[in-house]
Amino acid sequence: MPKLKRLLVSACFETAQRRRHCSRNQEHVICQGDKCLVIKENMSKNNYCMECAALILQKAREELEGLAHEMRAAVASSPDGS
Ligand SMILES: [Zn+2]
Repeated sequence: MPKLKRLLVSACFETAQRRRHCSRNQEHVICQGDKCLVIKENMSKNNYCMECAALILQKAREELEGLAHEMRAAVASSPDGS
């Protein structure tokens, strides 16, 4: 069976190897050894502090919910959906 396409290919948690700044807010500092969310997009790589990571995950969850809702609506309204 073919592998399923992953929707979220680009995000993972990493331990900061050095002091970094959060990509969302430069005032958020990620200390060396802290966990941070790394998101790779096209050729760029952004790190986010745990506070922003929580917000990003929350937003992603809402977006997934929205997509799932649309999918259920589409399946329910399709003629073969009975
Ligand atoms: Zn942040």
